[in-house]
Amino acid sequence: MLKQFLLIGLILLALVALPINDLSAAEPVKLNIAKPNIIVILADDLGYSDLGFQGCKDIPTPHLDALAASGTRFTSGYVSGPYCSPTRAGLLTGRYQTRFGHEFNPGKFPAHSEVGLPLTEKTIADRLNAAGYATGMIGKGHLGLAPRFHPQKRGFDEFYGFLWGANEYLPAEKDGSIPNILRGTEPVRETAYLTDAFAREAVSFIDRHQKEPFFLYLSFNAVHTPMEANPERLEKFASIKDQRRRAYAAMTSAMDDAVGSVMAALKKDKLEEKTLIFFLSDNGGPSVVGTTLNGSNNLPLRGSKKQTLEGGVRVPFVVSWKGTVPAGQVLNQPIIQLDILPTALAAAGVDLSQSPELEGVNLLSLLTGKTKEPPHEALYWRFGDQMAIRRGKWKLVRYDADLRRTKSEQSTQDKPAAQLFDLENDIGETKDLASKHPEIVAELQAKWDKWNEKNVPAAWAERPAAVKKEGASKFTSPARGRGRRPSGG
Ligand code: CA
Repeated sequence: MLKQFLLIGLILLALVALPINDLSAAEPVKLNIAKPNIIVILADDLGYSDLGFQGCKDIPTPHLDALAASGTRFTSGYVSGPYCSPTRAGLLTGRYQTRFGHEFNPGKFPAHSEVGLPLTEKTIADRLNAAGYATGMIGKGHLGLAPRFHPQKRGFDEFYGFLWGANEYLPAEKDGSIPNILRGTEPVRETAYLTDAFAREAVSFIDRHQKEPFFLYLSFNAVHTPMEANPERLEKFASIKDQRRRAYAAMTSAMDDAVGSVMAALKKDKLEEKTLIFFLSDNGGPSVVGTTLNGSNNLPLRGSKKQTLEGGVRVPFVVSWKGTVPAGQVLNQPIIQLDILPTALAAAGVDLSQSPELEGVNLLSLLTGKTKEPPHEALYWRFGDQMAIRRGKWKLVRYDADLRRTKSEQSTQDKPAAQLFDLENDIGETKDLASKHPEIVAELQAKWDKWNEKNVPAAWAERPAAVKKEGASKFTSPARGRGRRPSGG
């Protein structure tokens, strides 16, 4: 009798010990380094294929290539939207931004000055700050302009940068400084090329906090419009005939130099093995949207910033942690920027079991080779009327084909049918297989509908209703009044 009980007990134990696919339930990865520093480097509106390690031929990016080679590159790295502020909200909260109404940019319109990342949401900086990290944000804010949305109210000890969605890079002729730059809440006189200034500030932050765990969110506005490069770097790209592409190349090169400065500071301070680094873009290159065209290239992907096609949401994505994350590794499992928060917090030793609101996944098991299972059953997007879902190789997508029209110029008949693509064999989304596989279309649509049940209506419209071609008396038209405050996307 006792023997039988023992046998049954052993069988039960064996069953429990079987490998499981659910990463959240997987055995935690044993880390040699406690409380590593965490750096998130975000590019803005970068084209999918505009870096050396992504196959770019006309813009050398040696420092970013070295960063990619030092760690793991994801070929199916996504962001949770095709637009600046919403994906930043997702990154900082670890949640689909449509859960809390942050579906569109808080724009430059007066009606938008009171909206921003909802105060109901906890940021990665709040969480790491509570875990004893020094936290700093350098670069573009785009979380709202009102004082309650200021980065230093959202978990960051320090802030250097601007609060809008875009900014000039070159000092203005009239006073020799760059407008809108703040240190904390105080305007400062910045005279360096802006990307170089952000590099200087990042190095200073690292040096000042080298003896304690730190979190640095280095949020470039490069390579977003306006297309302003400094003369020395423009000279380097004299062979590029297209002037927009030439400026874009020079601006990308500046960002690459800035990443080189950050890596050099980590090496000098002997922090390379103590620092977990993420690099990605906030959305795809704007190859369709008239006012923010920057000369970027998303090929072989189709589509643009502001579209739920791959060109809007699939981005260069690197995770590096010398000695912990394998160097030179390339992973094809689809992941999303929502995963950064849980991965960083897990590395920092923070218990996330009491945070069921998080939708990202801790990627450490995948990164360290403990599992090969895709961490997400499916990934989802909602951006106004546009939608997408990716599960395995299949993607169902309904996108806006012509972003140059205003909403009022579009008729309801324009709403296109959802299309189905096999991304494994058709990364460029060229062959719509919806009529061939109606059962997969129905299944994915039902899955997306279920996911969408937990979304809330957008907390603010993309453009306030009063902004129209005719009778724009109350607000400035987005096409005019760019002046010293470029519109951000
Ligand atoms: Ca962007």
